[in-house]
Amino acid sequence: MILLVQNAEEYNNDLRAMIMAFFSGEKISGMSPEQAGELSPKMHREFTFVLTALYDEKEVRLQIEEKGSVLYTAYASGNYRDKKKFRNRLKLAIYRLLSEYTGKTLPWGCLTGVRPAKIAMAKLNAGKTFNETVKDYQEKYDVSSEKAILATKVAVRERALTEGIDFENSYCLYVGIPFCPSRCLYCSFTSYPISSYKGMVEAYLDALRKELQYIGYTNRERKLVSIYVGGGTPTSLEPEELNLLLTDIRSNFDLSYLREFTVEAGRPDSINAAKLKVLKENEVTRISINPQTMNDKTLKTIGRAHTANDVREAFRLAEGIGFRSVNMDIIAGLPGEDAESMRLTLKEIRRLHPNNLTVHSLAIKRAAELKQQMVTYGSRIHQDMEEMLKQVSETAEELGMKPYYMYRQKNIGGNLENVGYAVPGRECLYNILIMEELTDIISAGAGASSKRVIRNAPDEGGENIRIERCENVKEVVQYIERIDEMIERKQDLFLGV
Ligand code: SF4
Repeated sequence: MILLVQNAEEYNNDLRAMIMAFFSGEKISGMSPEQAGELSPKMHREFTFVLTALYDEKEVRLQIEEKGSVLYTAYASGNYRDKKKFRNRLKLAIYRLLSEYTGKTLPWGCLTGVRPAKIAMAKLNAGKTFNETVKDYQEKYDVSSEKAILATKVAVRERALTEGIDFENSYCLYVGIPFCPSRCLYCSFTSYPISSYKGMVEAYLDALRKELQYIGYTNRERKLVSIYVGGGTPTSLEPEELNLLLTDIRSNFDLSYLREFTVEAGRPDSINAAKLKVLKENEVTRISINPQTMNDKTLKTIGRAHTANDVREAFRLAEGIGFRSVNMDIIAGLPGEDAESMRLTLKEIRRLHPNNLTVHSLAIKRAAELKQQMVTYGSRIHQDMEEMLKQVSETAEELGMKPYYMYRQKNIGGNLENVGYAVPGRECLYNILIMEELTDIISAGAGASSKRVIRNAPDEGGENIRIERCENVKEVVQYIERIDEMIERKQDLFLGV
């Protein structure tokens, strides 16, 4: 256990995130200097180390203490109440202090946020060159040159791909189908086994239709640029149900500004020719077929009821039916996998030759059963993560793809990132718009979250936009019974002042 002692709470989350980046999985106990002063020397010695942050109007004094001896001290100068100027100064000081203490550097330096490319986007928009932007990442945040170049490349693609979009008057529609063939061990999404919910699908689609009608009607004057049907696994539905859902979507929205229509086919065990034909007939332009790994043993471990061969067959089927944009998701850091396992997965991916490839660094979220399984698979999780991501980047390049969106998550393996690669012209606009928070995302379905982008409204970090959200309930029965309330939540978010 690590003890964090502070005389002010303003940066509590920042400090904790930085400590977690170095000491993933360790517990942190927080106290005031007065409370810490009451601990006996024996209790003090039980902590792995004590990190103290003492704030006054001119500077913050940081120190690391181990077994009663102060080992390292650092200062961040400035008035801590001026959050806009001070936050990064403090994060950099704490990063350098922990780096000195552990003898380690982190690829993303002191950046702990989920959208590392956003910084590059702002700098490029302000007229900085590619090289100046890379240098800023390195000097202001201690980001490695490799990651600084990656984030800047992503921002360059994002700018090119979103050029000409009227962000203020455009929006994206997200539709959540919370059913899957079985539950993956690492899942923390809203997902229920379809076999137990068969009898509820009709009522679910009825409720969803009501929500879609509301969204379509209230946004009839705006431009719908992207539709993303996710979940869950939408193709867990039967072909007729899928057709009903897509017909509901198409009949309730003006599609004349639509640039793309994505449906996550996700699990190969949910796909067949009849379902793919329904998607094609309903003008879906992009699908995902997600292997996660091409190693059958790992697939079994993580609770996916399909084999690598099912992935190959589903992919060939989709190609035969005429899908031109197919994404494949893979995960680095799955239980028991190392750089060699990734090499084998990528060999198979190269044979299939998709035009979108997304790599996720495994994130152990609170809800995931995998967290409990850490003890079983423990030390091998996250091994070789950086090497795995490097291999993916090389494979993507070999397949003619470029990185075009990225994000990080809390508790992400190796403190790394998730990156989407695509052959130019095959990118998913939705992924950029949601990650960079450029347009409203209006969502329907159980567990779906809507985001409103409010411009010219500085947040406390000094950005000129503020994001407000509303969530739908996650539980299917609750969603069906409380559909009017879900609609009212959206009404409050988007039509409220
Ligand atoms: S396919 Fe995705 S949503 Fe479904 S259980 Fe697996 S991780 Fe969760």
